[in-house]
Amino acid sequence: MLEARQGHFIWAACHPFLAACVSADARLILSNCCGRELEMQNSRPYYPPVLRKSILDMAFAGSAVHIGCAFSIVEILAVLHRSHLRFPGNDPEHADRDFLVLSKGHGVMAQYACMHERGWLPKSALARYFKDGTHLRGLGEAAVTGLEVTGGSLGHGLSVGAGLALAAKFKQSDQRIYAIVGDGEANEGPIWEAMLFAAHFRLDNLLVVIDKNDFQAMGATRDVLNGGDLAAKFQAFDFDTETVDGHDEAALDGALNTLKTLRNGRPKAIIAQTVKGKGVSFMEGNNVWHYTRLTPETYAAAIGEVEST
Ligand SMILES: [Mg+2]
Repeated sequence: MLEARQGHFIWAACHPFLAACVSADARLILSNCCGRELEMQNSRPYYPPVLRKSILDMAFAGSAVHIGCAFSIVEILAVLHRSHLRFPGNDPEHADRDFLVLSKGHGVMAQYACMHERGWLPKSALARYFKDGTHLRGLGEAAVTGLEVTGGSLGHGLSVGAGLALAAKFKQSDQRIYAIVGDGEANEGPIWEAMLFAAHFRLDNLLVVIDKNDFQAMGATRDVLNGGDLAAKFQAFDFDTETVDGHDEAALDGALNTLKTLRNGRPKAIIAQTVKGKGVSFMEGNNVWHYTRLTPETYAAAIGEVEST
């Protein structure tokens, strides 16, 4: 099954429109091939400081990692997991689950932290993050139970999400598909092709969240390739669109509630204005923390800030 998935994603890179069509009937058949390592489910809510502490612990263990881009989506994932994503029986492979497509796969530590809270990943797995022999690698991989797509290279997850949304329509299911896309990732052409596809097939069960942290690997998004007014562009592609503070959980929750219940034949988008590195003062807006190593000193300082939140 893994080989089938890898082939699919290589193929997806070649033609996102066809990839969306194929994922509509193929992706729901493929299942995660990794064995599950479960421990008793943690009943804590998805509390952002706790998630950020998990991310820092993973980052320190993994030695070279994407921290800033994980921190910017913590509240987005917290609200989705706490109040919106439906997993019957808390089963990440349930056929009737909602799908979370983490298209910006370099933010995967935030999802790993949520998966731990769901009881899908034990702490021992988080401690092995990004080390030799682990299945928790630096970018999200579909082979990991709880991750739906391989999120690197960037730009392809939204096509898969559109295919999943079309599959749900074929099934006459009320499943929803949430896709998290980076603002730098939105520089990729396949994102826009997927948007055309979603509008054409009236995929009102697809909700895209843009993590607009205004940075990407090589600098400020406005300097690398300015996406301009993303809300206006999504609206021009026939999406219902809201813009919110991506760290305001109540605002995110409200926008999600408003958009996901609109079954009007139009796909949905939330432009979440976020801060890269949110939660640690010396990381916020500092693109050095896109991908770098924590020293014992910076780890201790970051933990201190998060724990004092
Ligand atoms: Mg970005």
